[in-house]
Amino acid sequence: MPLAFDNAFARLGEGFFTRVTPTPLLNPSFGLTSARACALIGLDSGSDETLALMGAHALPQGADPVAQVYAGHQFGGFSPRLGDGRGLLIGEVNGWDLHLKGAGQTPYSRFGDGRAVVRSSVREFIGSEFMAAVSVPTSRAALLAVSDTPVQRERIERAASLLRLARTHVRLGHFEYFQTQGQLDPLAQLVDHVLTRFGIEGGANPALALFNESLSRNAGLVAQWQTLGFCHGVMNTDNTSIIGDTLDYGPFGFLDQHDPTHVCNHSDHQGRYRFENQPGVMKWNLACLAEALIPLAGVEPLRAAIGAFDDCYRSAFRDCLHARLGPVSEEALFQWLGLLELGVDHTLAYRYQAEYRGRSDGHYARLAGLFSDAQRPALDAWLATLHDCVDDFDARARALCLTNPRRVPRNWICQQIIEFGEGGDWAAAQRACDALFNPFDEADPRWDSPPPESMRHLAVSCSS
Ligand code: AMP
Ligand code: MG
Ligand code: MG
Repeated sequence: MPLAFDNAFARLGEGFFTRVTPTPLLNPSFGLTSARACALIGLDSGSDETLALMGAHALPQGADPVAQVYAGHQFGGFSPRLGDGRGLLIGEVNGWDLHLKGAGQTPYSRFGDGRAVVRSSVREFIGSEFMAAVSVPTSRAALLAVSDTPVQRERIERAASLLRLARTHVRLGHFEYFQTQGQLDPLAQLVDHVLTRFGIEGGANPALALFNESLSRNAGLVAQWQTLGFCHGVMNTDNTSIIGDTLDYGPFGFLDQHDPTHVCNHSDHQGRYRFENQPGVMKWNLACLAEALIPLAGVEPLRAAIGAFDDCYRSAFRDCLHARLGPVSEEALFQWLGLLELGVDHTLAYRYQAEYRGRSDGHYARLAGLFSDAQRPALDAWLATLHDCVDDFDARARALCLTNPRRVPRNWICQQIIEFGEGGDWAAAQRACDALFNPFDEADPRWDSPPPESMRHLAVSCSS
């Protein structure tokens, strides 16, 4: 079936983008596939036409490739003009934006070559599809292709392309761009575009309605990140989706040992985006959005609206904790967070408490094994609180094993998958991905493990 393109974003008009013809890649071949993401748009993942798309040799009929313009606060400083520097929005299919990443230079490439290397593309592929598998709102990755096009980084590497799907690629930085350019009509047009696409009622103050929606979705999103131990790495406003999807997977990371001060991005020297800062940064980013919407919504309504962030976040975070721990008391939630801060493995602690069925059970030993002798009394105190809240541990375990994943894409696993792929063994890479994308099922136990000593301190930097 041919893809049925709508091009609603391209219809907004010239001021929103530049039309760009993608630059072909040499000898493209398929690397990784997400059957689930392909199914969202009815994409035939193995066809010649699809390979021609991935290699930017020929786009499907009806595609209208554009590079979007936006602005953004990067590490707190304002960049008035950014944009799609290495990816093109080629149109929308079935409510999903199709974005071909690594498709060559655009007017927004600045000093970049418009390409993406295999390692960063594999990481984005893994991050996106894992988040979808654990029901965190996110952009998706349908396909990853590799090519013989050389790209210069610290060494020469091969260029890859990624077919990203997103319910929209509109970022907070889009609104900042039009407001700082003094272009208030396009600003209002963009507000309408997003409201219409998501069926959000605009009412008397459409920009305020959009702001409220963005706030509640993004507060909910960051609450999910904190529960999962996901560290975004580059929470710039141009990497923050207006509709609260996880967007722009670069140097992201998942906590191994729980550490609130963890900084996953090697380029983040100040630790601005460290794990514990993410809710505060999201609020800061939303304040930038509020500022951009002042000409349309008015100062006072926006001031009141942003004041709701803290409560909105706290309530979403509590809901996330209940999803992981069950309907336990406030005291149990609070004590649990204290246990994590002892520095235990974040993912395994959540998973093993879900599997716990009582002190005489073998699962107790596994859970207790995460804690040192000195820490054990704190665990036992928490378990005592838990026993006050739970009647049926079997039922609890059955339910919570569906909300607490066995594994997450730890850096060492991503690195292993990258090495499989760069070594040409895409079948092994795909198998490991499939284990990550089914994180509640049993799989090769290797992927459930914390990093081996030699891979504890892998560094990952900004765009590559
Ligand atoms: P990021 O750190 O991924 O959010 O990227 C920041 C900006 O740099 C965006 O406008 C990207 O499109 C652009 N960019 C990143 N890498 C490249 C590249 N290799 N070539 C051109 N532009 C790039
Ligand atoms: Mg970006
Ligand atoms: Mg990026």
